[in-house]
Amino acid sequence: MATALLLSSSRKVAVQALARGASTMAAEKPVATALQDVLTRIKQASERAGRAQPVRLVAVSKTKPVEALQEAYDAGQRVFGENYVQEMLDKAPALPSDVQWHFIGHLQSNKVKAIVESVPNLAMVETVDSTKLADKLNRAVETAGRSQPLPVMVQVNTSGEESKYGVEPGECVQLAAHIAKSCPHLRLAGLMTIGMPDYSSRPENFQCLAECRTQVAAALGLVSEQLELSMGMSGDFEQAIEMGSTNIRVGSTIFGAREYPTKPRSPSPPPPQEQQQA
Ligand SMILES: *Cc1c(COP(=O)(O)O)cnc(C)c1O
Repeated sequence: MATALLLSSSRKVAVQALARGASTMAAEKPVATALQDVLTRIKQASERAGRAQPVRLVAVSKTKPVEALQEAYDAGQRVFGENYVQEMLDKAPALPSDVQWHFIGHLQSNKVKAIVESVPNLAMVETVDSTKLADKLNRAVETAGRSQPLPVMVQVNTSGEESKYGVEPGECVQLAAHIAKSCPHLRLAGLMTIGMPDYSSRPENFQCLAECRTQVAAALGLVSEQLELSMGMSGDFEQAIEMGSTNIRVGSTIFGAREYPTKPRSPSPPPPQEQQQA
């Protein structure tokens, strides 16, 4: 498959591993069923939390073939998340143009132009973590002549892990203010975090992101609800919704396991691919 040729060697290994795992993958739920289950769980968690605001589901489709994305699309899903630029560039033209693409990986400055120009339906970049990247995106959106500002989120490293990208919680106001005041072609949509893979620690990370939002809103003269919180993944999206998330990013629960073989959840960190640069 052509996509594989464009992937880095480590990704190729992952793709081969995926192919080898095909027989075990077959036992997994069809995408449409898994998607429906997730939507039901979102609804239930929202009701439990008494949430009026709807929660957006970003279907994280990294490493998955376009056929799997199309299955989710046919079942009604419109928002998809990718964290490798090349993978988004490959998949976007293969899917209907009303897909809303969220970029959720580490975005290198030298890939900004390509993603903005080649993906007209890029709906959000969730991972802005420097003024330099914000400025690059701002210029690229202007040059591409997009009619609307591009929504972006500030990625915050709420777990203090060196392996995670994002600004320190103490720096989020400065970056958010820079985007709001100096980047007219971007729209500050909210804040995003990944948090610890250790679930018992995550409430603190989610709490931290909510506190960052309070500070940013105060500094910019907004009410908190005007800013989104992107937090919660397969293992913890219900908890995240109960803690105020408006945008959850769910991958393996919808599409099945990725590179690594299916195994019971353990508190070990995700494989390094999760955080590799695009
Ligand atoms: C892969 C990924 C997800 C989805 O993870 P799952 O545990 O498979 O739901 C969410 N957010 C980011 C930033 C990711 O890289």
